[in-house]
Amino acid sequence: MYNIIDRLFLEHDISDSDISSLLMDKIDTIYLFSKADEVRKLYYGNDVYIRGLIEISSFCKNNCFYCGIRAGNMNAERYRLSSEEIIQCCIKGYDMGIRTFVLQGGEDPAFTDEIICRLVSDIKRIIPDCAVTLSLGEKSYESYLSFRKAGADRYLLRHETADDLHYHKLHPDTMNPANRKKCLFNLKKIGFQTGAGFMVGSPYQTVEHIISDIRFLQKLRPEMIGIGPFIHCRNTPFENYDNGSTELCLRLIAILRLFFPDALIPATTALGTASPDGRERGLKAGANVVMPNLSPVNVRKKYILYDDKICTGEESAECLDCLKRRIESAGYTFSFSRGDHNNIKRE
Ligand code: SAH
Repeated sequence: MYNIIDRLFLEHDISDSDISSLLMDKIDTIYLFSKADEVRKLYYGNDVYIRGLIEISSFCKNNCFYCGIRAGNMNAERYRLSSEEIIQCCIKGYDMGIRTFVLQGGEDPAFTDEIICRLVSDIKRIIPDCAVTLSLGEKSYESYLSFRKAGADRYLLRHETADDLHYHKLHPDTMNPANRKKCLFNLKKIGFQTGAGFMVGSPYQTVEHIISDIRFLQKLRPEMIGIGPFIHCRNTPFENYDNGSTELCLRLIAILRLFFPDALIPATTALGTASPDGRERGLKAGANVVMPNLSPVNVRKKYILYDDKICTGEESAECLDCLKRRIESAGYTFSFSRGDHNNIKRE
């Protein structure tokens, strides 16, 4: 296994069968993680970047089988933040030192392009030195372009799985994998720092699917890659399916770091939910981003994508303090910088 890891470390690529060995044989983990850590340090030093996450709406028109805020979940409590509330969350985060805000939500038609554009430009006017990331699902090329023109810097849209048949096992027929991939290429073309990614251990996922995910990411070349374990959610079609494995997710973070040395890779909330020290272990396996929750406390329990989601009861400041302690205990430096991808040249 050592020579596969060394080859991946040096060449940032290996064959499909080598990926399969790295994923299936759970050996030499310490060596794998240490090489991943070495690479992240080469590109981004010891820094871990902070993104304040604001969950702007739990309304969603889609019906993804895995997700707790799917339209068909009649038990989901719905809320929608107003633009004023979202801006207040950003200001609060700014006062705590945060310089990147991620606006995420279900695909909520009430958030029209016009409302989103006005919101983004207001945030950028009030807080000129921040980065705004959107994560609002699939939109047309024109919509994405208008968001970019309004000042949005980054966009997160996980591809979920690069394999079309697998995609159809996770989503209703109304959703189309080609469109999701097209959206990602459009985002790149428009000049967003773009994030893709997938769940680890989602129902029916095989090692071959994960290999396709890596090959897709090689074509897309996203600036950010988000992965986290699948966690079942009550009142969804997958409520009785097994959760994804923390260990496999950690191995994949390390493998992705070696494939994509300069990617920004978060230690996700799902990883912290699957395992109490999941995020610290994610950082040690090569992740370099964390996303404290800045949503108002009274809505947090309504943005439930999966069961037992952590950080739903805390104030924003508590969430940030907790993450700071975790980052420092793992031996990294908490960074309040915007944390742009290193391909971005800023004036
Ligand atoms: N509507 C936006 C945001 C989706 S929520 C969009 O379409 O991009 C963000 C991510 O949470 C999803 O992309 C998915 O990968 C993840 N997620 C949803 N349900 C999950 C579950 N049950 N377990 C783990 N991750 C989940």
